[in-house]
Amino acid sequence: QHYLDRIQRLDGTYNSYISVTNDIALAQAAEADKRLAAGDAPALCGVPIAHKDIFCTNGVRTSCASKMLDNFVPPYDATVVSNMQTDGAVMLGKVNMDEFAMGSSNETSFYGSVKNPWATDCVPGGSSGGSAAAVAAHLAPGATATDTGGSIRQPASLCGLTGLKPTYGRVSRWGMIAFASSLDQAGPMTRTAEDAAIMLNSMASFDAKDSTCIDQPLEDYTATLNDSVQGLKIGVPKEYFSEGLNAETAARVEAAIKQYEAMGAEIKEISLPHTGLSVPAYYVIAPAECSANLSRFDGVRYGYRCEDPKDLADLYKRSRGEGFGEEVKRRIMVGAYALSAGYYDAYYSKAQKVRRLIKQDFVDAFNEVDVVMGPTATAPAFQFGAKGDDPVAMYLEDIYTIATNLAGLPGLSIPCGLVDGKPVGLQLIGNYFSEAKLLNVAYQFQ
Ligand code: GLN
Repeated sequence: QHYLDRIQRLDGTYNSYISVTNDIALAQAAEADKRLAAGDAPALCGVPIAHKDIFCTNGVRTSCASKMLDNFVPPYDATVVSNMQTDGAVMLGKVNMDEFAMGSSNETSFYGSVKNPWATDCVPGGSSGGSAAAVAAHLAPGATATDTGGSIRQPASLCGLTGLKPTYGRVSRWGMIAFASSLDQAGPMTRTAEDAAIMLNSMASFDAKDSTCIDQPLEDYTATLNDSVQGLKIGVPKEYFSEGLNAETAARVEAAIKQYEAMGAEIKEISLPHTGLSVPAYYVIAPAECSANLSRFDGVRYGYRCEDPKDLADLYKRSRGEGFGEEVKRRIMVGAYALSAGYYDAYYSKAQKVRRLIKQDFVDAFNEVDVVMGPTATAPAFQFGAKGDDPVAMYLEDIYTIATNLAGLPGLSIPCGLVDGKPVGLQLIGNYFSEAKLLNVAYQFQ
């Protein structure tokens, strides 16, 4: 009730929720009270959670912030949602995002942009901007989010939160509306690393319904939070401190790394030589996969259908033309072009080869160091409209986060100070399945 009251009172300003599920929240909270009274309290018993509106929720509209799915009510829960419900979580509602998770500013939502609680004239980041703003404004203690190219870490950075993208395959993608299937991964958005560990304990699972989910034993991510960072080898890639990085942001990130050194960690400069190719490779691969995934929205099976179609072609064309926003259409066109017969080798197949090189950079780095550290984003939150007319400027916002997705590695952002009164984040990248280590290292900083 406390959170529902705050949402009611404050979310008119932030616009972080698309749907608030009052009745479900109160019913689940009552159920949690009973379980507590009976001494049968699972880990998240009674903990209110907001779900990104990309996760299917049984009987509750799941829009992906698109007109295309404005009327879509799924008949089932995503695995992440059912895992958390089994562990006693209480669903407060569904939070705002960039349309189909495409964007870095939450300006592409059909339901309007989300305001950054630290400065309401600025973006909260994207695509999980609603998850970030809701947690930052205390409209939920934790939220689910997804990260295809940075969408958990960058909004966490811009809103002063902890955001973790797990190793690809650690969390089930079943029931999570697909953007780029080889890159998409769900994770927690919270205030602290400890909260993120508690949420990941529930979100992570092996799920036979997702063929890319990996059957790896589950661990307790809270178990090693208190381990010392003495002797930890931290690699700092020189490519992450290049020209495009705002000087004060660089200073906060460098100070944070020094703090680890003071705690006994060893700092080593490293090189990830293909860093500069990650944005171009991603912006071929992600649109290619999106053009295939979004072909299912055809006005026939579910979602938006245009009025009075003349024939089948008209139904397809107008349903898609009217249902998708500008950025989504741009991606579908770029992707369809990159996959077309004459260009496949020149673009898609080449981008896949570059992806291999980017992954190899990290494999080599993790032969020498335990964790890679650098900035999450180039600067603190920018103002609405600042990059609105320039898609390439917006794509460059992902420069430090995208390589992690291309390589399938886990990455985490934690707050490391303020620039002009707005938060900036330190990014930690770890080897495959090193989530426990990343959370431990993050926890030691906080
Ligand atoms: N900003 C990137 C994009 O627009 C990443 C989005 C994401 O991680 N979902 O594609």
